[in-house]
Amino acid sequence: MQRKDYTTTEHDFNHNLIDKDALEVIARLKRAGYEAYLVGGGVRDLLTNHKPKDFDISTSAKPEEIKHVFNRQCILIGKRFRLAHIRFGHKVLEVATFRSGENTDTLITRDNTWGSPEEDALRRDFTINGLFYDPTGNSIIDYVGGWEDIHQRVLKSIGDPVIRFKQDPVRMIRLLKFTARFDFTISPECRKALEICKEEIVKSSPARILEEILRMLESGSSSKFFRLMAESSLLELLFPCLTHFIQGKHGEEIYSYLDQADRVNKERYDKALDRNVLACCLLFPILEHELKLQFTDKGIAPHIGEIMMVSAGIIKAFVTSSFSHFPKKMSTTIGYILTTQFRFTPFSGKTHHKPKLYHHKEFSLALQFLKLRTLINPDLAEEYETWKKLFKQNIRPDKPPHHSDSPVKKRRRYYGKSPRS
Ligand code: ATP
Ligand code: MG
Repeated sequence: MQRKDYTTTEHDFNHNLIDKDALEVIARLKRAGYEAYLVGGGVRDLLTNHKPKDFDISTSAKPEEIKHVFNRQCILIGKRFRLAHIRFGHKVLEVATFRSGENTDTLITRDNTWGSPEEDALRRDFTINGLFYDPTGNSIIDYVGGWEDIHQRVLKSIGDPVIRFKQDPVRMIRLLKFTARFDFTISPECRKALEICKEEIVKSSPARILEEILRMLESGSSSKFFRLMAESSLLELLFPCLTHFIQGKHGEEIYSYLDQADRVNKERYDKALDRNVLACCLLFPILEHELKLQFTDKGIAPHIGEIMMVSAGIIKAFVTSSFSHFPKKMSTTIGYILTTQFRFTPFSGKTHHKPKLYHHKEFSLALQFLKLRTLINPDLAEEYETWKKLFKQNIRPDKPPHHSDSPVKKRRRYYGKSPRS
């Protein structure tokens, strides 16, 4: 495709949203005689009127040359493919040398070599992600037809989508992520390729899949994304347990949690809810139903130890039966958040405000999830306010804590008081 240049106006590109340090990095590379552009997701976000999360820069300078320009401000990272990280206080900007891509239809197993700006654009996934922005003339350089596609609101692959999805199956998840996030349509070629290649998804790296899923949970468009994942069968291939529940008669409960999380995350803009709290949106409805099946339907109110076991079982099933899994620390935190919900709103109806509860390092996350539950069930608002207040004051409530020498409690019977979700 022929290179096309476009000049951006305030109408289609909010220049004020560009990070000043990113502009400075580009200016310094140019002063040193190299080509440098803002690339990828940042340019796409500016053109679609979204605030970019990150500003990636591509340059003709080789890693050692970038290091030479920025000296101690720059760290070179990566073994297979060297990248430069330029530090501005706590902020880090990523600068990469132009690369060329592979065009075989096999899974990419090694990284590629240095290339021209055009080759760098062609190795990217979708046309909307292949644009370069040159701050000097406020111009967009387009080797892939991305400018047109952004304005037509359509997702097209750079190159044959069957080849590109086979090379890197995570691109299929990215396709659905951009569809959900920007409300763009999928080109017929990509739709067909998704159908042909979906089974390849299990060949990709679990860590990358988890990262894309977590990013989507934070995105404010997670509900739509999970619906698209379910429709395309990718969800079933990656998370069979979750899919079984989502496609069952209570599946909509998960979507109502995701809808509320999306609402909150859209309002929070820059600072999404914690990833562990968001992951609980997928698991809490499953836990509630499992407890109902195993205990409350039989008239038994499960005690906290039993709830912990059921919750651990669900997380384990989620981990072992799924292609993508949580790191251990995350499983522990999720388990804690899930179980603590039943301390906040116990089946017995009797809450124990044990002071040591508030000292748990993840208590505030459990409270964050309780707040999400109040958006679905406003009857819980009072409980939430009480726990929040107590947490803030960190005071002992009226009741003395339960002593170990108090009589052993009989198993509580559950007399049909509906568990509160
Ligand atoms: P997000 O807004 O979620 O960060 P992004 O498109 O910016 O989405 P990044 O992972 O930050 O995603 O990647 C930056 C850029 O790198 C992309 O815009 C795209 O040009 C390129 N890229 C990322 N992943 C792939 C991939 N799997 N194949 C080809 N190019 C990719
Ligand atoms: Mg990005």
